[in-house]
Amino acid sequence: MTEGQIIPRPELAPRAPENDRHADIAFLLDVDGVVTDPTKKQVLEPQIFTDIEANLASGNPVTLNTGRSNEWMIDRVISPLASKVKDKGVLNNFFAVGEKGLTWVSFDSQGKLIKGVFNREGVPVEGYDLKVFLDAQTASHFSALAGYARALIKEKYSHSTFFDDSKHAMVSTEMIDGFNQPQYAAEQTQFTQELKDILKKLGVEGKFNVDPTTIATDIQMPHVGKHLGAQRVLDWLGRNKIAPKHYVAVGDSASDLEMADELKSQGKSYEFRYVNPGKPLEEKLTNGEDKKPKHNLKVSSQPFSKGLVEVFQSLKKTA
Ligand SMILES: [Mg+2]
Repeated sequence: MTEGQIIPRPELAPRAPENDRHADIAFLLDVDGVVTDPTKKQVLEPQIFTDIEANLASGNPVTLNTGRSNEWMIDRVISPLASKVKDKGVLNNFFAVGEKGLTWVSFDSQGKLIKGVFNREGVPVEGYDLKVFLDAQTASHFSALAGYARALIKEKYSHSTFFDDSKHAMVSTEMIDGFNQPQYAAEQTQFTQELKDILKKLGVEGKFNVDPTTIATDIQMPHVGKHLGAQRVLDWLGRNKIAPKHYVAVGDSASDLEMADELKSQGKSYEFRYVNPGKPLEEKLTNGEDKKPKHNLKVSSQPFSKGLVEVFQSLKKTA
């Protein structure tokens, strides 16, 4: 976690403020298993960059919404994209939200990459000064939790797991690339319990939770997630006075449905494209309510990145 210069960016990539600008479609894309290949963790379909560029150029905002760090996204997705885009001006239709709604990456009007965190009011602030979005007590809890998690990995899990140093606003551990995933999953139950025991020991069980996913196990604040990421995207569009007619969220996991939930709760016209046809979406029930957006859900025939290309192709015809 590093300290940086605080430069408020209340209107990232400012544009002519007098008029709302309409867009046909705004995209909200999960990253792992959608933009990047789920096992190779890179963009393997060059067509994805071509399609993103074409949408940006035609005025359709393209946004990323992920638990990944800014640095991971920049390295694997955003820099390769920016280097391929011919007219750098179109990059101000691009916005990325990292760390489950806590960090962001964008471009200024000159096409220069800018990045930072959201402050406690949800406004993007350039740089990584933790003080702008964590109170001192929370920051010190994170630092203690990070120390314990690191020690636990070193002691028992270094064969399968690494501590993700690139995260700023959460404690994140991940499966080592190429490790046997079923074996990771088998050990994860115990690892998760040991992380929960650390929360208990520090007396912060209510303040943070442990989130085990396919290849990662995170300690985070309970309000973060894909719904918060989607909210950040909608805020960014609002600040930039971009008014999309329709929203398309694309994901490969049940948790990505939170994007659809957020779009629905804000009264937007939306659809959710699911690109993991081999794994049926589980019905997620919250407070007795069916969260699956049955009427707005479409499943791709091809999996993952190929499914995203399919989504772009299908919308090209109707746009
Ligand atoms: Mg995913």
